[in-house]
Amino acid sequence: MRLKDTGLTPKELKDIVGKYMVETYERYDFIAERAEGMYIYDEEGNAYLDFYGGVAVNSPGNRNERVVEAVKEQLDDIMHTFNYPYTVPQALLAKKICDTAFMNKIFYQNSGAEANECMIKMARKYGIDNFGPERYHIITAKNSFHGRTYGAMAATGQPESAVQKSFGAMLPGFSYAEFNNLEDFASKVTENTIAILIEPVQGEGGVHPARQEFIEGLRKLCDEHGMLLLFDEVQTGWGRTGAPMAYMGYGVKPDAVSMAKAMGGGMPIGACCALDKVAAVFTAGTHGSTYGGHALACAAAYASVSEIIDKDLSRNAYEMGEYMKKQLALLPHVKEVRGRGLLVGCEYDIPIAAEVKHGCLDRLVLITAIGDSVNRMIPPLIVTKKQIDKLIRIMRAAIEDAAEKYYDMDMAS
Ligand code: PLP
Repeated sequence: MRLKDTGLTPKELKDIVGKYMVETYERYDFIAERAEGMYIYDEEGNAYLDFYGGVAVNSPGNRNERVVEAVKEQLDDIMHTFNYPYTVPQALLAKKICDTAFMNKIFYQNSGAEANECMIKMARKYGIDNFGPERYHIITAKNSFHGRTYGAMAATGQPESAVQKSFGAMLPGFSYAEFNNLEDFASKVTENTIAILIEPVQGEGGVHPARQEFIEGLRKLCDEHGMLLLFDEVQTGWGRTGAPMAYMGYGVKPDAVSMAKAMGGGMPIGACCALDKVAAVFTAGTHGSTYGGHALACAAAYASVSEIIDKDLSRNAYEMGEYMKKQLALLPHVKEVRGRGLLVGCEYDIPIAAEVKHGCLDRLVLITAIGDSVNRMIPPLIVTKKQIDKLIRIMRAAIEDAAEKYYDMDMAS
């Protein structure tokens, strides 16, 4: 739907949003009407260079042609059906994902939070069924983010943040340890612990990659205590970090993994994949989802995952990520550049991230801010060197403006 077909002015449309929608998002002040490849277009046809990627969703590119064609083709046949008949998109996608990710079984969900919910439920049931009623505890990382349903909220290691605060009691059975600190994780293990759950790269927490020895150490710790290693790859999965799944880049295999975002290439879908021994705890009636495995979403996901693999977008993610990190490190006020592949965080020595984000937006480049001093870049995995050069030029100007404003304010106070 386009604004010109509604008879509304941009202001009238924004007023409707303000009046009728629950606003948990700080809006970017433009109307997104069209998207293609690395660009999003507003109602006046202005092209925004997209380093946001629909929050790491549009990995094969905005409106990737193969994904769009797959959806159109599927629309002619069936949009949604109940989960009892066999369907081709579900079957082909299951095989593609499990074979590529070295997993045995998949359960389809609708989002990242739901995928984690499924993984948490599987792990808890695995513990209780196999070892008794108390063995359902899970250790997650401080500063993690796993989503906004109650299980995923409880797993999120940010008890004082807006994610958990004032929502009452969280799901019991979670404890939190310091990310990248193997000893802290080991110290939290009790006889009731059944699993450790981490993001291979903490995304929402400020872009912090797990260290190789940390991931390897967690695998060993889990093996020694008969615990499951669970990875939340909702943000890192499907090419983002330079490997199809981030754990493949680390060479460490989990017992179960959640995914969403890039998996659907722009259509809402998530999934939990697990090894047979874990997946076996789900039998008829133990878990379900009306929309999970939706035919359109599965057709889109089959196209998205195939495109990422066939075009080797992981490699581009790795190469462009390395290039971007090098260029970012040369910008003023940059204290640290972190990340893996095209999940890149840029931390400043002054709290200017929001101002830099707005400065880039004014110059038609989309990036995200995390906290006061980190900008995160998560573009589609098709990004080119030339587009990164443009990002860097624009960030330099935005940083210079933001720093000047910051020092002016500092002097005035
Ligand atoms: N897990 C991780 C690592 C995420 O980055 C996110 C979303 O940003 C989620 C879970 C939640 O996904 P969704 O918003 O699709 O529920």
